[in-house]
Amino acid sequence: MTQVYINGSLVPKEEATVSVYDHGLLYGDGVFEGIRVYAGKVFLLDDHVDRLYESANAIRLDIEKDAGMSRAAMAAAVDETVKANGIEDGYVRLVVTRGAGYLGLDPRRTSNPQVIIIADTIELYPQEIYDNGMHLVTATTIRNHPGALSPRIKSLNYLNNILAKIEGTDADSPEALMLNHKGEVAECTGDNIFVVRKGEIKTPSPDSGILEGITRNTVIKLAREADYTLTECALVRHDIYIADECFLTGSAAEIVPVVALDGRTIGNGKPGRVTKDLWERFQGLKGKC
Ligand code: PMP
Repeated sequence: MTQVYINGSLVPKEEATVSVYDHGLLYGDGVFEGIRVYAGKVFLLDDHVDRLYESANAIRLDIEKDAGMSRAAMAAAVDETVKANGIEDGYVRLVVTRGAGYLGLDPRRTSNPQVIIIADTIELYPQEIYDNGMHLVTATTIRNHPGALSPRIKSLNYLNNILAKIEGTDADSPEALMLNHKGEVAECTGDNIFVVRKGEIKTPSPDSGILEGITRNTVIKLAREADYTLTECALVRHDIYIADECFLTGSAAEIVPVVALDGRTIGNGKPGRVTKDLWERFQGLKGKC
């Protein structure tokens, strides 16, 4: 039976409930993380806990003070939940909501934040996509303007991404490319994007209006360690059309080859050499950090 962590206790999942007045539900007021577990070890746990606290800080949610949890205590709670559920290879959803309040917006008038940790199995893209590559489309919905709600905050308000995701699935693509308010490439609805051209790797920088993905940062590190030239810079769709290779990164997806965008074939239309090399290097990290 799945045990869910909620506010300090592990309870059967049916008993893990929050108030209908919780501002996480009423307003998407809260933050979250999606984390992988490999060989019983939570992958890059400290990086995820750091990003959670940074997102919380950006929305003026003080987890340490209002939920009484230090970063170390949060990491320990994630470990405990994974162990209690005997998860060897799986996925953790870590959620902190603003807490139960009244029907107005004021976050000061809420109870303490609700801390929820779910450790479960994971649903991946079909193997066919890893073998043959993904056909991607560009959504008309642009990524949130960083001056409105920064995409660097991993908040519970994912409607921006969901609207673009619907455009993707309408076009039979499991992902969709999102542009930023300047018309540059930002990221996909739940994955970051990279291109490879003439052996050099490029990816949009955090100030392009993206979530600074932890898989993205890991792949950047792996690529640099392997002596690839990697630049974080502004990209437009044309850079993807003329790329030799393109791939996406994310905790759930890991590294996914992209072989077409908006009906334009990328490179030779097959997963590329650099993508495969980075995929292999990434596999080597599993269970180790
Ligand atoms: N961009 C968005 C919008 C995301 O939601 C995610 C996480 N699913 C990513 C990128 C990838 O981030 P990470 O590698 O930290 O999972």
